[in-house]
Amino acid sequence: MSDAPPPPARSECLTDPEIEGVRAAPPGAAPEALARHLAACERCQERALLDGRPRPRATGRDRPALPSPSRALLMLALVVAVIAAFFYTLRLLVGGS
Ligand SMILES: [Zn+2]
Repeated sequence: MSDAPPPPARSECLTDPEIEGVRAAPPGAAPEALARHLAACERCQERALLDGRPRPRATGRDRPALPSPSRALLMLALVVAVIAAFFYTLRLLVGGS
């Protein structure tokens, strides 16, 4: 092991040929300066992982539709009825007046 300090990370982003070189290199064999920059730069990580394509954005079309107000009120009434039944049963079991 050498005591030399590690090379500083590059401050500027990798070029397309450098990204290709890092991607083609076997694991652990990429040039250290490039690998250090890649480890710290989200933009270059995206370019290396997604091959330069823009990141797919969440469309939100999988989100379920909100319930209608009448269904929400029905659900609220059911919850209140269940809570009332719980306390009624509890009162019977405890034997309160
Ligand atoms: Zn970068």
